[in-house]
Amino acid sequence: MRLVIDSPQRYAKMRAHTATHLLHTALTKYFPNTKQAGSLVDSDFLRFDFYTDALLSYEQLKEIETWINDWIYEALPVSLTEISFDEATKLGAKAFFEEKYWDSVRLIRIHRDEDCISAELCWGTHVSNTREIWAFTIISQEAVASGIKRIIAYTWPKVIEKLHTDQDILNSQIQILDVKSSTQIWDKITKLLKELELLKSHSESLENKVLSQLLDSIKKRKNANFDTILELPEWTNFKPLPSLLRQYFPDTNTILAYTTDWTYLILTDWSISAKSITQKFQLKGGWSDTSAQGKDTKITSII
Ligand SMILES: [Zn+2]
Repeated sequence: MRLVIDSPQRYAKMRAHTATHLLHTALTKYFPNTKQAGSLVDSDFLRFDFYTDALLSYEQLKEIETWINDWIYEALPVSLTEISFDEATKLGAKAFFEEKYWDSVRLIRIHRDEDCISAELCWGTHVSNTREIWAFTIISQEAVASGIKRIIAYTWPKVIEKLHTDQDILNSQIQILDVKSSTQIWDKITKLLKELELLKSHSESLENKVLSQLLDSIKKRKNANFDTILELPEWTNFKPLPSLLRQYFPDTNTILAYTTDWTYLILTDWSISAKSITQKFQLKGGWSDTSAQGKDTKITSII
């Protein structure tokens, strides 16, 4: 039997694993008592779950990213030593999951001369110097369970892949928004949103005008069920209709407006409940105490 090691893949996992230890150290700067709740190390990919109630802010995540990339740039040595479990405990090394470790354990230390950056008991495979990680970036942070947060991060070369993906997204936004550079995107979006607001208010006032003219000219009826009945065209926008109808018919107890595709609006005053009318005639739709709206052919039986 021959054991073959896929070197590039193994090296990619080593980068991610050592970066996981650095991430754990960085997190303890914000949450000194946090403990690891689980982790997954894959090729230049790492997922780290930890106990805490609060999510980190965007600024804090950026700071963690900077610290880790600084440690990478510093080319800190990663040393592996086998020591007794008691010795490791005395050194304050992080041992996870309250696991029963063997008598002798492997201590992974990342240090700057005598200054210890990270010390963890771990049987995983690691790079020998942080410079070999090359780069680190956080992809996401989320709450996965009560009191447990998850960070997903990449190491080189997935960092570059992510940079390219982000750049592709930015480039398509630059094209769609017809601006010269990404710094102009925000200004353009703000300008477009303002224009949209203006257009919306113009179209609303136009629509109100059209509806008012319609209400002036339309034939009004009444029957045993409603004081005012109006048949409106199918294109009628029902959104501004309730306030307009109440303005037009202030002394009416019950109003029914419907279109030829059987969309309806029922308005009542407090003397009668709109809900009771829809229940009485078994009309489909939503209601409040003084209004009901929906679409139902059964409306034909009450007009
Ligand atoms: Zn480890």
